[in-house]
Amino acid sequence: MDYKQELKAFFGENCLFDEPMARHTTYRAGGNAEAYVYPQTREDWSFVLKLAEAENVPLRIIGFGSNILVSGKGIGGITCSTKRMNHVSVDGDSIRAEAGAALDKVSELACEAGLAGMDKLSGIPGSVGGAVYMNAGAFGQETFDCLEYFDVIDLQGRPATILKSGVKYAYRKVEGIENCIILSAGFKLQKGDFTQLIESRNTVLHKRLEKQPLEFPSAGSVFKRPLNDYASRLIDDTGLRGLSVGGAKVSEKHAGFIVNFNHATAEDIKTLMDLVRQKVKEKHGVELELEQILWGNFD
Ligand SMILES: Cc1cc2nc3c(=O)[nH]c(=O)nc-3n(C[C@H](O)[C@H](O)[C@H](O)COP(=O)(O)OP(=O)(O)OC[C@H]3O[C@@H](n4cnc5c(N)ncnc54)[C@H](O)[C@@H]3O)c2cc1C
Repeated sequence: MDYKQELKAFFGENCLFDEPMARHTTYRAGGNAEAYVYPQTREDWSFVLKLAEAENVPLRIIGFGSNILVSGKGIGGITCSTKRMNHVSVDGDSIRAEAGAALDKVSELACEAGLAGMDKLSGIPGSVGGAVYMNAGAFGQETFDCLEYFDVIDLQGRPATILKSGVKYAYRKVEGIENCIILSAGFKLQKGDFTQLIESRNTVLHKRLEKQPLEFPSAGSVFKRPLNDYASRLIDDTGLRGLSVGGAKVSEKHAGFIVNFNHATAEDIKTLMDLVRQKVKEKHGVELELEQILWGNFD
């Protein structure tokens, strides 16, 4: 049996082949995944990890695909979605969430329970796993601020619980977890005022609607914030607002975003990313660092 048959036999309807990644990424662009599965239990993970190792095929983990650009040439091997792992529980001032739960849902539950510390994360369209993986944040709040621990397995399927104090993290960066599959995360929050928290959440959601081009597919801010500045300010100041390549455009509403305004290919988006970096470097001497993750071959 080839590896795809084994995968299908095990996962059944939770296994897809030649699956368009435009369906699974917020850019709504990109080629196909050779195999796309939805593991849920430890046994599922153990099976898929062993198979990938035995067959020597690459394995990727995807949350909500809101920070990934997949090449139009597609991606080989097995892509594992965490979407079926989405349980969340609130216990006193603690929240435990599985990796595939929506970060926004956790933030909403926290506010409704009168727990402070995640209200500013409202509206980030990623999963808990994706948020932990890159320490997502907004409006001065970061995922790691209230993270207590996260449960992982490594590529050999060995489980571990990693305490926040055991990792080095910074702005949009967590070190040493590249080969970990995040299964769940525990958050410790502060008791807060229910009315203020709901108000804060609503304000954040309103600001997002007002400032971000949510009417078009995108993956949020393309570049990390450079030291003492904003990528969007530099891009704007370079005169790049509205610049387009094929169906991709630097958003007119928020110059830090690239939007797919008209059936953009992943290559349109990547070419525009490169152009923006080059022009900003020429004008300001600043090397913008990509916040988004590229999968596949863009050569
Ligand atoms: C409109 C819009 C607004 C946004 N605003 C913000 C914002 O304010 N702040 C911000 O920080 N980001 C923002 N983003 C970007 C994005 O939502 C975040 O980066 C989010 O944390 C990504 O989560 P995800 O589940 O979509 O991850 P994915 O895009 O699916 O994956 C991102 C990376 O995480 C890895 N990963 C995902 N889940 C796991 C797991 N369980 N175990 C191991 N690795 C995993 C993937 O392999 C990949 O390398 C925005 C995006 C959009 C579209």
